[in-house]
Parts: sequence; C-alpha cells; structure tokens
Amino acid sequence: MSVATELSPEIEEKRLEELNGVDAICPVRIARSPELGRFLVAFRDIFEGEVILKDTPLVVGPQAESAPVCLGCHRPVGLNEPHVCSNCGCALLCGPQCEKLPAHVNECDALRNALPNSAPLLLKDDGNWQCILPMRCFLNQPKGLFQLEAQMDARIESGAWEECERNVVKVLQKYELLKNIPEQAIQRVCAILDVNSFEVRGPPDETGRSESLRGVYPNAALMAHSCFANTHLSIGDNYTLIVKAAAKIAAGEAVFFNYTDTLISTAGRRERLRHGKYFSCECTRCTDPTELGTHLSSLRCSDQQCPGSVVCTNPLEPVAAKWKCDRCKKTIDGTVVRTGLVGVQKELLEVDQTDVLAMEELLAKLSRSLHQNHAAMLELKQALSGMYREQIMDEGPVVPTKLLTRKLEICQSLLPVIERLEPPLSRLRGITLYEIASPMVALAKQKKVSKVSSATWAVDVRNQYAKCEELLRESAKILLHEPPSAPEAHLAKVALMELKGVRQEIADLNKKCAKISKKKK
Ligand SMILES: [Zn+2]
Ligand SMILES: [Zn+2]
Ligand SMILES: [Zn+2]
Ligand SMILES: [Zn+2]
Repeated sequence: MSVATELSPEIEEKRLEELNGVDAICPVRIARSPELGRFLVAFRDIFEGEVILKDTPLVVGPQAESAPVCLGCHRPVGLNEPHVCSNCGCALLCGPQCEKLPAHVNECDALRNALPNSAPLLLKDDGNWQCILPMRCFLNQPKGLFQLEAQMDARIESGAWEECERNVVKVLQKYELLKNIPEQAIQRVCAILDVNSFEVRGPPDETGRSESLRGVYPNAALMAHSCFANTHLSIGDNYTLIVKAAAKIAAGEAVFFNYTDTLISTAGRRERLRHGKYFSCECTRCTDPTELGTHLSSLRCSDQQCPGSVVCTNPLEPVAAKWKCDRCKKTIDGTVVRTGLVGVQKELLEVDQTDVLAMEELLAKLSRSLHQNHAAMLELKQALSGMYREQIMDEGPVVPTKLLTRKLEICQSLLPVIERLEPPLSRLRGITLYEIASPMVALAKQKKVSKVSSATWAVDVRNQYAKCEELLRESAKILLHEPPSAPEAHLAKVALMELKGVRQEIADLNKKCAKISKKKK
C-alpha cells in the first residue's frame, strides 16, 4: 500500500472524534488532496487488525432491489403469510412485536395518514422498496445527513435521476407521502444515499438467512475508494460499522475502502462506480493494464501457439484503445474486444447455473480466448466451487477423490488472485483458505486409510496435514474478526474444530514416523 505515501496530503487538524465524539484513540485524521477530495489518513502506524474507527449509522433501511424485509427489525419476511402492521395497515413485519420498533415508528404514522385505502398496496410492488430509505431520511431528519456530499451534476448524467424519479418520486406522489417536499430535495437525498451509503448485512432470521441493507455512516464515508483497499468492514450490534486495518497502514498512508467487488474486471468496476457513486476511478489497479499482475481483464493471444496475454494499452479507455499481446506484440481494436466480451457475458447469462458439466464445458471453452484469471473465468470458478461444495456435502462420509481434487484445484487457482488484490485480513481470503483446507483434509484422510506403512508414506501424509494446519489457522485467524452472529464467525468455529482434528492427526503420524524409523534401526 505505497499509494498514499506520495500524496503528501494537507492534513486538517481535526481528529474524527472532535467531529462526532466517537472514539478517543481514533488513529486517523481527515486530509484533503486534489485527487481524492476529503479522505482519511493514518497519523501513526496502524497495525493489521487494529480498529480504525467505529461508526453509528445516521439511517438504515432496505436496499433498492431488496427482497421483502421486516420494516421494524430488517429480518427477511416471507410473503406467504406476512404480518401487516395493525397501525398503518401497510408495512410487512415479522409479527406484532416489531410494530413499535424505532426503525418503523415514524414512517408508520406517515403511512397511516397518507392514503389509508391504497396503503396496503404500497409494499406489494417490487419497485416500491426503493422509497423506504429516502422516506426515512425526511421523517427522521438525521443530524448531518443533508450536508453530505451528493454529486448532483454527475448524477444527472448517469441515468440515476430517471430511476429515482420512477421508483421513488412517482411512488411517493402516488401514495401522497411527503407531500410538501419538492422533487429536487428527494432527488438530492437519493443522491446522498447513493454516494455515502455502505452495504450492510441485516440481522439473520431463524434459518440464518439475512438481507443486505443500506446505511449511511458519516465518518466511514470519509474513506477514499480504491479498487485495492486496506480496510476490513464488519457490522456489530445496532448496525455499528467497525472499520479495521486489513493490512499494516503506515503513518501518512491513506485509508482505502473498496466500494465494488474485487473479482470484477477494470471496465466492470469503473462502470459500477460511475453508475453508483458517480466518479471515474483512476486508482493504481484501474490504471495498470495487468491489474497488478493478475490479468483480470486480459485475453489470450489469438495465435494459439503464442503463450502471451493480450492487455489493454489504456485501461481507462478500453474501447477506444488498442489491445496488445505482451509477447508477440500483435494488436487488436478495442471495439473487437468489446464485441467478444459481450458474447462472453451472454454465454455466462445463458448457461444453466445448476449444471456442473455445462459450467465446466463453458470454462474450458472460454479458457481458449480469455486469460485464466479473467473476471468471467473467476466468476465461473467461484460458482463451480459452490456447486462442488454442495455435491461434497451430499455425498456423505465417502466422497470420490476426483470430486475433492477438482474442488481443491479450483479454489487453489482463485487464491493467488485474491491474495494479490485483497489485503491479508480479507473475508474472501479467509473463506477461500478454508475452502482449500477442507477438501485437502478429506484427501489426507483418504491417503491415510490407504496406508502402506512406509516411512515416506507417513511423512507424506503428515506433511499434507501440516499444510492443512497452516491454512486452517490462517483462515480462523481472519474469520474470527467477524461479529459472532455472522456466518463467517460460524465458519471460523468450524475451522477451529477441524484444526484440532488435524493437530491430533499430525501428533499420531509423528509417533508413527518415530516408530518406523526405530524399527529400521
Ligand atoms: Zn421484525
Ligand atoms: Zn406500521
Ligand atoms: Zn479503481
Ligand atoms: Zn501473442
């Protein structure tokens, strides 16, 4: 993370706690630079895993495309027999116990007073969800929310304006909600929500399922974006956002959060950021044709004899620029590449996501034209990894070696990319390490059963277990940073249990090795 050391930011002599009274030992300050605007910078070395800041949300609510959630507690609600609030006759809730929860109280009265007859219809149409969070902003008037950055000019160009008009403004007008608020003000609040909100995981229902929500965190929103981030975010009690350093951040370096997903190619990430956050990312990763050596956007050379990778000569203009093979220097027009990638996207959409063979075939087919780490390849590999995980679980105690080996192979091919693009303390890295360790343990067990009591055999199996031990330890270390209710925290416990078993196996095998070598003497 050497990016920020060159920034020499002008540090405002304001510490975060003075702004919000949060944390007396907050290790960051607010800085300003022409490239990043206002951002957070470390004023002393921050160690991996150290809490940088904790932030309470100004407002929390459902995402625009959310499945139905209880408007009181935000747990998923089934649409079969939902409880409809007895006061407003409109909101879907888990049950009467959620009618008086603080999240719903203000909007409950507003909904009741709006249009009593048509109110029950309000939450039936999918698009209507999008109006809940903006409505909450006006009803609850959270302190400081209306002063946050809105990027209105960029928004008008992005198409988000029309979407908001259709799904928020028109819906509110139809049900005569927020009657005295001008359209411009509603657009502005939607812009503030888009620019500043973080995706947060809602509380789980009894089956462990949860919906993702949106929350506005004024201090965390000061973090600059980079597609190569150095922070780890998690949600604690009462939607408190906990930001930790996911790698060591030296004094003077900026604190970066990644608003997109790591395993998307440069064009895809930049498009999402332009559409959702209204800015064009020009971070170290976006401006590097090889995406920091991972080749997430690269193609294979069309000359099948050439082992080269075809990269974009100007990744910020992928259609206008030439693409060039890094070995034979042959070039292709960006427009041709675009047409090819549109075809790839179509195939990804059309493939039967429940058919392992079809997915494997598509992966093999795409590997002839795309780099093995291309985002489309990674998407297929991630999906296959999940499918194999389920197949392995369905197999019971005796899993075919071939299945375990393929699962292992796929996850092992994902890890180097993740480790290059994500910081050490990364949730995705923690999960992937576990996904590698799990089939590896099963394979070691199989090897152990097929025993040929030779010293090389025992050493061999022990070494395999030792590798598993290392992976499980690292996985648990990362995932234990998650709040106790998170599924990853559960995975951490599973990893720790497996770790115990693995250590026992290693101890047994060490004894065996000693015995065998004694016999030999
Ligand atoms: Zn509820
Ligand atoms: Zn209600
Ligand atoms: Zn970027
Ligand atoms: Zn070539």
